[in-house]
Amino acid sequence: MNFHVLTLFPEMIENGMNTSITGRAIENGLLSLNAVNIRDFAFNKHSKVDDYPYGGGAGMLMQAEPVYLSFESIVEKIGYKPRVVYLTPQGSVFHQEMAKELAQEKDLVFLCGHYEGIDERVLEEIVTDYVSIGDYVLTGGELPAMVMMDSISRMVPGVLNNQESGETESFAGNLLEYPQYSRPEEWHEKKVPEVLMSGHHANIAKWRREQSIIRTVTRRPDLLKKAELTNKEWNYVRQLKKELKEKNNETVNDKSISDIDTEQKNRRK
Ligand code: SAM
Repeated sequence: MNFHVLTLFPEMIENGMNTSITGRAIENGLLSLNAVNIRDFAFNKHSKVDDYPYGGGAGMLMQAEPVYLSFESIVEKIGYKPRVVYLTPQGSVFHQEMAKELAQEKDLVFLCGHYEGIDERVLEEIVTDYVSIGDYVLTGGELPAMVMMDSISRMVPGVLNNQESGETESFAGNLLEYPQYSRPEEWHEKKVPEVLMSGHHANIAKWRREQSIIRTVTRRPDLLKKAELTNKEWNYVRQLKKELKEKNNETVNDKSISDIDTEQKNRRK
């Protein structure tokens, strides 16, 4: 996977990505990182790349031409037009499936905005995907680009030592991951659940699956509508929701139990 980042702050991208797991993958040649400084394509002697927005309003806007030229430099280098992700709070919200899908590409370009954003005309010409990392506004696209690259990297074969851990983590099958424990067996008078020390693989798998469901019901009930559950598990979800509702009304903040019944029926069709 070759990452190309169009940015005004290449050192920020390089420092972030050349660290830890992604850094190791870059060293091993599983990933490559090409951080292109948009300022190098400025067409004035002060290397200025921003200007006032037409029509007035607060802040400055990144101009079209330097962004376009920096993108063209990548096209020239790799010999084809790759997918270009513009990081923007106005995009579709990033999620695990998107990471999986983007990990299939050979080259990916991330375009990082700054100030009030980028002249719309160049976005229309080069951007293929508009992606946000959440409903809040940041000062620049560099952190969102790094968030995306980190998560996409985990889907590239060989980047994780144990490939399995990328596949069984939270969001696999739209469930959150179960709780995990390491040594010592007892800490602050809290014991590791006995089943995990039993060596009984089937029981451990059953316990983990159950815990994943409990976690998802209590923390991210919104994920359940797309979760891959058996009929027995749907019944368990229903029972858990009922118990939660009885215990504390506030924690049940998504669909009612009858909605779950409808969901289950629809799935059977
Ligand atoms: N004026 C823009 C708007 O209201 O949509 C926001 C511009 S923001 C201050 C500057 C840059 O940060 C954006 O061009 C984008 O690249 C990046 N950015 C900010 N928040 C983001 C988010 N939630 N997801 C992805 N990129 C974001």
